[in-house]
Amino acid sequence: MVKKPRGECPGASACGHSPHTSEETPVYDHRRLGRELDLFDTDPLIGAGLPYWLPDGATVRHTLEEYIRGAERRAGYRHVYSPVLGKRELYEISGHWSHYSDDMFPPMDLGGEQVVLRPSLCPHHAVIYRSRAHSYRELPLRMAELGGMYRSELSGVLGGLTRVRAIQLNDAHIFCTLDQVADEARAALEMIRRAYRALGIEASRHRLSLPGPGGKYVAAPEKWSRATALLRDVLDRSGLPYEAAEGEAAFYGPKIDIQVTDAAGRESTLSTVQVDFHQPERFDLHYIGADGARHRPVMIHRSIIGSVERAVAHLIERHGGAFPAWLAPTQVVVLPITEAEWPGAEEVARRCADLGLRVEIAGPERGSLGARIREARLVPYQAVLGAREAAADHVALRLRDGRRLDARPADDVLARIAALVAAHAGELWAEKDAEG
Ligand SMILES: [Zn+2]
Repeated sequence: MVKKPRGECPGASACGHSPHTSEETPVYDHRRLGRELDLFDTDPLIGAGLPYWLPDGATVRHTLEEYIRGAERRAGYRHVYSPVLGKRELYEISGHWSHYSDDMFPPMDLGGEQVVLRPSLCPHHAVIYRSRAHSYRELPLRMAELGGMYRSELSGVLGGLTRVRAIQLNDAHIFCTLDQVADEARAALEMIRRAYRALGIEASRHRLSLPGPGGKYVAAPEKWSRATALLRDVLDRSGLPYEAAEGEAAFYGPKIDIQVTDAAGRESTLSTVQVDFHQPERFDLHYIGADGARHRPVMIHRSIIGSVERAVAHLIERHGGAFPAWLAPTQVVVLPITEAEWPGAEEVARRCADLGLRVEIAGPERGSLGARIREARLVPYQAVLGAREAAADHVALRLRDGRRLDARPADDVLARIAALVAAHAGELWAEKDAEG
């Protein structure tokens, strides 16, 4: 039986609760491309829904994770690490145990205690917040982690990176006052907008996800309506078109979901912003206000790219493996026309590496220049080196999109590429943006 679509903390929506119709074959199927491009694979001995990442896929993932951490650092987030296990009591307090246990792995008995693989990061972060006293001056306190979590998906619905049992979640929790919620939610939407531009992806729509009928939502009508009004106001002021959808909220609160659509037209949630009055109360969180009294903070759950697995699956399908240059596993391929240019090619490659670029040399032993260019068709920059270029310390650059630039000094070309990569630029080339 296929589980019903449902959304919870960022992780839930991030790892796949849109209807999947496995019969359809998208234009780019990330499972097929993932295998062909040596990005990731699975093995029955490891298990269904437990993909492993090959070196090129690991490079994409690592680069994506570093982009997220950098964006979060600049936005005032502090990163933490927390364990992927927790005692059953932790999830009884958070409410996951009573509202969400169908999606959790069975607990492990350990010396009279029960330990579970965590279904979300929120309870750990609430406990970390609670471990220290906080003044109103520290708020908003933004806590981020790219951390592991687990979901007991049935094997029948597993596939590639979109439905997995072990999830790496781009998660963050902002502890703030009620007055700060709108600004923080707006700032999160802006981070999401920038990330999508850098990643070359588009939101298909924004959704205000509300509770539906049934007992899977915590009962607190007044809190639901306050949180919903806050998010609705943020969306109204943002000018973004959105639709309200009942039955898509997390069990503890409403959320803004940013939906993306794959090549086959299937929609899924990548990013979320949620307002939560429930968990701060369950964990008895507080801060000391200007009045010296204890006050309850609000908790905003937000994810820029959702789960790393789902984000990379979407990027593979969106770009057909031709990732934005800053994400590409290999960014520059150096193509010496003959053996004679090999030393020059090594020198160009060394300078690329010094600039932090990921580079490979594809020499004549790999076939004709045309064949090597075809083989490197997903590499954004192809630096061709003939006798004339090698003698002048020039390279003739070909771009992945077919554009060819006249031969010019190698240092100039490499500096421009490095500047575009550092800026997470969407375009492959810009004459005036990079310094000459
Ligand atoms: Zn959360």
